[in-house]
Amino acid sequence: MRMRKTAAAGAMVLALAATATACGGESGTAGDKPAGGDVFKGTYKAAKNVKVDSQVLKDAQKAKKIVIGVKADQPYLGFRDTDNKYSGFDIEIAKMVAADLGFTESQITFKPIDSNSRETTISKGDIDYYVGTYTINDERKKQVGFAGPYYTAGADLLVRREEKGITGPTSLKGKKVCSIVGSTPLQEIKKAKYGADTTELSKYSECVTQLLDNQVDAVTTDDAILKGFAAQRPKKLKVLDKPFTKEPYGVGLNKDDKALREAITKALEHHIANKDYQKAYEGTLGKSGSKYVAPETPLPRY
Ligand code: GLU
Repeated sequence: MRMRKTAAAGAMVLALAATATACGGESGTAGDKPAGGDVFKGTYKAAKNVKVDSQVLKDAQKAKKIVIGVKADQPYLGFRDTDNKYSGFDIEIAKMVAADLGFTESQITFKPIDSNSRETTISKGDIDYYVGTYTINDERKKQVGFAGPYYTAGADLLVRREEKGITGPTSLKGKKVCSIVGSTPLQEIKKAKYGADTTELSKYSECVTQLLDNQVDAVTTDDAILKGFAAQRPKKLKVLDKPFTKEPYGVGLNKDDKALREAITKALEHHIANKDYQKAYEGTLGKSGSKYVAPETPLPRY
């Protein structure tokens, strides 16, 4: 049976299959590459005298607890291991920002949020901010605020290593391409010009499982995400490395909280300037093959 346009029951079976397969390495057994990449342990020194006139932040500081939305199945970016420990570049960005807002690492609660639920979760105030491969764009800006960009990715294609027919986005006519609901690469690949037959799921790890099981021919999303999955299974998967969109990553937060947005922007600038950012990058994303590019500062004020 081939999955088309996520059926609830099928999606559940797949989610279970994804947990079974996506956690392993080449052979799906333990002892291969760590699923989250090599774990980087950064501790971040806070900027001094940060005063922020944000009610959300004041409440969080009073409770001594900050809730940050992240991804949990994206190796080297936002990944939760079997001990419930989070690792990856976005996790480090989340921690740097938290440090400058006055929170220690033990005061952080990470909350996994899939791409499709980001805007609603942020608007409802269920999280204080979000760091998870979140592309800044005008449509999303109508619902949420962004600080950044702290990184720029591009949509790319992940295929099986032996694949010869798919050489880029223009060779997808009639091919089964998996991506996830609520993501910009899915929106892009659905355009008629590509002629792709899409499979739409809720987690990238589920798409990767389908690719390994020959149920789809390719997975599309940001190159940074796809390289993480390929790094876990280099003998089975490859990224084409021909990005065809620009995906500037921002920290998502409540649309009206200008004070918090400014504080997060300053925090990013501070940790870019003192090289925490570069160290974190090289200890996470750099290990899955994404090249380091220093972000441009000062960051824009939206
Ligand atoms: N950066 C893209 C987006 O925000 C794809 C990655 C994701 O789904 O998080 O939609």
